[in-house]
Amino acid sequence: MKAKQILNEILDNPRWGKNVTKREVIPGREAVLEEIPGFIREDLKELMGKKKIASLYSHQAKAIKTAREGKDMVVVTPTASGKTLCYNLPVLNRLLYNPEARALFLFPTKALAQDQVAGLVSWGEELGERIKTYTYDGDTPGEVRKKLRTAGNIIITNPDMLHTGILPHHTKWMKLFENLEFIVIDELHTYRGVFGSHFANVLRRLARICEFYGSRPQFICTSATIGNPGEHASRLLEREVSVIDEDGSPRGPKEVVFYNPPVVNAALGIRRSSLLEAEGLAGELIKAGLQTIIFARSRIHTELLATYLGRRFNRIGEIKIRSYRGGYLPRERRLVEKELREGELNGVVSTNALELGIDIGTLQAAVLTGYPGTIASTWQQIGRAGRTRDYSLAFIVGTSGPLNQFIINNPSYFLEGSTEEALINPDNLVIAVNHIKCAAFELPFSEEESFGRLDLKEVLDFLEENQVLRKSNGRYYWMAEGYPAEDISLRSAASDNFVVIDSQAGAKVIGEVDRFSAPMLIHEGAIYIHGSSQYHIDRLDYDQEKAYARPVDVDYYTDADLAVDLKVLDVFAEEQNGAVRRAQGDVSVLAKATKYKKIKFYTHENVGWGNINLPEEEMHTSAYWFSVPESGKDREKMQSALMGVANLLGNVAPLEMMCDPQDLRVLAQVKAPFTNQPTIYIYERYPGGVGFSEKMFSQHFELLQRVKNILENCPCQSGCPSCVGPVEEVGEKGKDNARWLLEEFLF
Ligand SMILES: [Zn+2]
Repeated sequence: MKAKQILNEILDNPRWGKNVTKREVIPGREAVLEEIPGFIREDLKELMGKKKIASLYSHQAKAIKTAREGKDMVVVTPTASGKTLCYNLPVLNRLLYNPEARALFLFPTKALAQDQVAGLVSWGEELGERIKTYTYDGDTPGEVRKKLRTAGNIIITNPDMLHTGILPHHTKWMKLFENLEFIVIDELHTYRGVFGSHFANVLRRLARICEFYGSRPQFICTSATIGNPGEHASRLLEREVSVIDEDGSPRGPKEVVFYNPPVVNAALGIRRSSLLEAEGLAGELIKAGLQTIIFARSRIHTELLATYLGRRFNRIGEIKIRSYRGGYLPRERRLVEKELREGELNGVVSTNALELGIDIGTLQAAVLTGYPGTIASTWQQIGRAGRTRDYSLAFIVGTSGPLNQFIINNPSYFLEGSTEEALINPDNLVIAVNHIKCAAFELPFSEEESFGRLDLKEVLDFLEENQVLRKSNGRYYWMAEGYPAEDISLRSAASDNFVVIDSQAGAKVIGEVDRFSAPMLIHEGAIYIHGSSQYHIDRLDYDQEKAYARPVDVDYYTDADLAVDLKVLDVFAEEQNGAVRRAQGDVSVLAKATKYKKIKFYTHENVGWGNINLPEEEMHTSAYWFSVPESGKDREKMQSALMGVANLLGNVAPLEMMCDPQDLRVLAQVKAPFTNQPTIYIYERYPGGVGFSEKMFSQHFELLQRVKNILENCPCQSGCPSCVGPVEEVGEKGKDNARWLLEEFLF
């Protein structure tokens, strides 16, 4: 019980102990075991014996039996519950009987796929090479590609490669599609929002091609715990799906500690930085010998935490801390994963990139800097500590934000609440039309075909009018130049990444940044932190998507401001209640990075600023908004009130919608050009939206009720970061003004 003792010692110190709002022990439990079913072949059983697998956990046994019955299914269990056997066994068993059969494994990221392939290749080899497993991704060499198309029994790939590399070239993959018996989809819960909506359409295209070659593969999916696994799987696959969700794997006890940084300025309601508190706690845990993972909410925070921890342990040579996030080159990430697995690292600081099932071995403690935004990801992050039977622990360190303060002070919302539902909208017209183009390129459409619940004929006729398709004898043929999948990214609106180049180290590429983040992170004058090293961005070549940097050693980092403007394009629903008018529809959002602040390490003081001169980015999306009548001439009061209510809404809406706070953005306008009135908009951060704005429109009153509750229950005097926002932003009377607006117009 080493971890438990260490935790008690740390919390016995009032410096830490007095800030704890809740300690919850989640008891461990014994494994529920079952015998390996008789229909598993002897040679496979023998190999399992060699790998010390003498029996199965109950969910694994159930999955294998369900697969045997030919049903489509999703296995829903937490990390480290032995999910891979749930699909590997049925697939290997089948392939041993029929070496002509084929299976397609889909993993949401390349890293996860690489993890899997190593395991499967070794099983295949030990079974006498009868089963050949190959990865097909951007790194697969040309000569291997040719071979794996015909010889590979198991093809491991990701949705992006399926979309651009396999489906458009299906004729080269005839052998795979004719004999395809299984499609394995790992981490099904990651396919939500825009990515999930795209993926559902990729699966529609896949189903079309399988039908063309005369196969009807069975789906075996796995998912982390979400609120609606069966419904989500059915929407993605457009089939009935069996759900297996009783977890039979063993667990060690785990203690979750809710920690609220102390108030440093009671009048302004300012708490000590969650970043510094998390750094302090992680420092104690690592010093005591616990291998610790620290999750940060952003890339900048990841690098800051790694820098601070690195400096803390500078003098102790044996302690090794690393950072991990998107934007690192694959080789760097593999190295950190390996060092973690082999126990060479004492600590790792990561964004949510390490939330997924990449194999990093066993960690003993997790520190979450801020509430990750959803119950599901919080459990995933906490689950990174304590894969064994030993005691493990996790800290959730609250920030000053309203959502964080709510969770830290009401831990039961998290501990007893059900996890979020995954939401997708496969019929989002922007997304679906793109995939209909891809599908038409792959195989001509006939007039009688269907594509999800869309009015396919209407879309096809539209594409014909626009000379994308040509109609002949009741069939629609692709006629435009090039092939469409290349230009369509499944992940975001922009498919292109910016690269960061160290101009002093022989023009070496040190990292990547996605298009929408580039103006914020790698504008000229920005300090780009990578692997705890700092780089000054000297020049950003926006057209070439390249940033030129040089290493520096400064005591500040940079933080950019984003100016946002919004135009209403189309109103789909509208309602008037008393003085308030609310609506839902399509909008165009224009975002431009304007200037940046230089912020000093540790004290986080503002020590200077500069301008950013970059073009604005435009996005069409879905929004919900409401407006109130102008009240007299006191525009300042209205401004402060709107700002306060908007800040609260920005935090409450994700909670009410059960989505990631990153999915939504709030904008307050004191005289909105469209409504001509004071208006608050909440828009979805992805082109076309995925259905949150319709949901917010219908839950308008619940949303505002929750806003009012948080406002009334906050102990501050005149407003603080935990409710309407800091006084510098909303003014001395911010809280009163927000209350006035809510009472005057909204209730
Ligand atoms: Zn407050």
